[in-house]
Amino acid sequence: SITPPPIGRFAPSPTGELHLGSLTTALASFCHIKSLGGRWLLRIEDTDTERCDQQFTEQILIDLEALGLHWDGDVIYQSERIDIYNDYLSSALRPLTYGCECSRKNLEQYWAKEKQTNLLDEANQLQPNRTHYPRCCVSKELDRQQHKLRIQLPNYWIGFNDGIQGIQWDNPQQTLGDMVARRQDGMINYILAASIDDGLQQITHIMRGLDILPMTTAQVSIMQAAQLPAVDHWYHLPLICNPDGQKLSKQNLAQPIDTRDPSGLIAKALQLLQQPAVDKDTPTNMLKQAIAQWDNTPLQGKQQLNAIE
Ligand code: GLU
Repeated sequence: SITPPPIGRFAPSPTGELHLGSLTTALASFCHIKSLGGRWLLRIEDTDTERCDQQFTEQILIDLEALGLHWDGDVIYQSERIDIYNDYLSSALRPLTYGCECSRKNLEQYWAKEKQTNLLDEANQLQPNRTHYPRCCVSKELDRQQHKLRIQLPNYWIGFNDGIQGIQWDNPQQTLGDMVARRQDGMINYILAASIDDGLQQITHIMRGLDILPMTTAQVSIMQAAQLPAVDHWYHLPLICNPDGQKLSKQNLAQPIDTRDPSGLIAKALQLLQQPAVDKDTPTNMLKQAIAQWDNTPLQGKQQLNAIE
């Protein structure tokens, strides 16, 4: 069989500007795939129209360019691909999906009642995970267009070898339940959209943040059900934390990166990623050296990296 050419990607959600955490993910996935002689694609994950903003998208592209992180091919925007996701939901993924009319309020009432009648089981901790949808609508055959769609994730264990975190096993049904695949307003679940695009873009190597690891076996199973080519290599990067150990994220107002000193930023991110130092130079030359020296081993088994102020 022919080995497919290595293809990686960076897939930011433009819900804010790049911060040190997302920059680190971009830099690591870029250097890693380039060290394998591969292509690095850029995909803007902007299906969540409430949280995403065109201005953030533009700023992300400008920042990546300023840092010398040049992507291959055209940028893909998920907001322009909703028809593709819907086609999968009504064809290959149709047997796994069903309409659901349960509101959050209904579900809260359901759990409250369950709790009263099952106190004994709860004491014995034999309860199914209460945050999971109890499948009230699974055989109602509700109209698919009028309701949100849920997807039945498989109830078996899936394993994969993560190049940074080691062997992983997870049962997607136990972890996520029947997750919402498409909201009533049409918004597509982000891991569903990512699964379809990673398949269609023939991504072979996914390097991303550890926060998405719990979704990975769901992604593996969705790609399989959709008959898309499997991702061969997974890498979940340790999360970047403040010196006090708090994860850097938009939620806790991580500072946007300041690209007035792109070389300094690259040096800082490479140090954070525990890579050998590179000579201070233009971003492009620093990246060349970083690619030549790229090594995943210092990251192995790590779940957290602390940024030093
Ligand atoms: N869009 C996701 C994020 O910005 C990343 C998804 C992925 O890499 O699969 O957190």
